[in-house]
Formats: sequence, C-alpha cells, structure tokens
Amino acid sequence: VASRTPLMAGNWKMNFNHLQAIAFVQKLAWTLKDVKHDFDDVEVAVFPPFTDIRSVQTITQADNLDVAYGAQDLSEHDSGAYTGDISGDFIATLGARYVLVGHSERRTIHGEGDDVCRAKVNAALRHGLVPVLCVGESLEEREATSNPAEVSIAQLKAGLADVKPGTDIVIAYEPVWAIGTGKVATAEQAQEVCAALRVALAEQLGDETAAATRILYGGSVKPDNVASIMREPDIDGALVGGASLSIEDFSSIIRYR
Ligand code: PEP
Repeated sequence: VASRTPLMAGNWKMNFNHLQAIAFVQKLAWTLKDVKHDFDDVEVAVFPPFTDIRSVQTITQADNLDVAYGAQDLSEHDSGAYTGDISGDFIATLGARYVLVGHSERRTIHGEGDDVCRAKVNAALRHGLVPVLCVGESLEEREATSNPAEVSIAQLKAGLADVKPGTDIVIAYEPVWAIGTGKVATAEQAQEVCAALRVALAEQLGDETAAATRILYGGSVKPDNVASIMREPDIDGALVGGASLSIEDFSSIIRYR
C-alpha cells in the first residue's frame, strides 16, 4: 500500500500585501518550529499571491523551515506575449513545489473550463511542479444529480487527460457550496466523493497511481472539523482558505489529531 503523507495546504487567495505576508510567514515559521515534533509526519504548504513567493522562499530557506509553497495559478504557456500572466517556469525557478489548477474561483470568476485546466496541468508538469487539480460541484449541480461525484469525476478526467501513470499530482475535492461559506461538507459527504475520485483515478492512471495520489478535501475546514474529515480513509489532507490566514487556526489544523 502506497503511503500518502498528509498534506495541509493554505490557500491565501488575494490576501496579505507584501509586508503582511512577510510578517505572517515569519510568525508561521516560529510557530511551526515550536510544534515540529507534532507535525513531523504532515507536509505543510502555503499558496501565497505571486508577489510574495520570493519572500516565502527566502524566509523558509533562512529558517530551514520544512514548509513547501506554491502558486495559486499559472499560465498554460511557457513564455511570450501574454501580458499579466506568470509561467510555470517562473514559479519553479522560485523553488515552488506546487501550483493550484482549476480552483473554483478561477473556474467561475475567470471562466476557466476543463480545456484550460488540462493545459495548465500539462504546463505545471513541464516545469517540474506538482499540480493540485481542484474539482467540485456547485449547489445546483449537487441538487440536480443522484451522483454527487459526477461533476468532480468529469473535471478530474478532463484535467488529467494527458497525464501518464506514475505522475506526482494532487487532487483537491472542493464542493463549491462549501468554499468560504462556513458550510462544511460532512465527513461522510466528503469521503463519498473522494472515494469515487480514487476509483476514477484508478480507471485513468491505474491502481498503483490511484493508491499513491493524495486527495485533499477543501471547503470551510477549521480546527474543530478537521479531525473528523481526516479520519476518512480516502481523504489525505486539507486545502484551507480562510482558516489558513490565522496562525493559530492553521497550526491547529496541521496538528489535526
Ligand atoms: C479554498 O479556497 O480552497 C477554500 C477551501 O476556502 P475556505 O477554506 O475558506 O472555504
């Protein structure tokens, strides 16, 4: 059985200006050093705005801090006339390990569909980044079907269409109705979809890759609900928005047991 190191990932979204971000990461570094023995077997990652990635690199290196980081988005192109876009090459050059692809806010606010997500997954992999492909259904979609995993499975299959077995990827199941709303999915609801996603992964990439791939839950994860979510067998971590902006909340989510 493949071991799936739990991953606790904080998506800052468009929060913290540069000075606030530096202060936050320094404080996070001190806090995590204090609790290191508690989270040795948990991988921690933060997803700051692009403008802070360089500072996060400096601070984590200077403090020898075992915190991974990534970007919240990337261009599907590698370089060229794409004003305002950021290439996976630029992100990887700053020592980032991960990049989010297809977060629901990208899908809805920026109209990114499955084709764009597929191209972005491929761009991440071209530059040695691990894509964290976000999938999940809206409330209308959940109410319109008897299979709550249907939308997520379709997004997963489309986003990973060009991915080869054995590739290091992460999936984040984030029901849109639970993001930033305070409405957390029950552990059973989250497990049901994550288990179905693992079956879909097995169909697409084989049993071995499916068994080794981490599937995160995201949607109003807080210190008081993380333990029950993490007890589910197909949930390997959390993608945390709001609660990742508080040192106290994020560090207790990391120490979820
Ligand atoms: C997210 O942005 O991925 C998220 C899950 O946000 P929140 O935790 O605030 O619901």
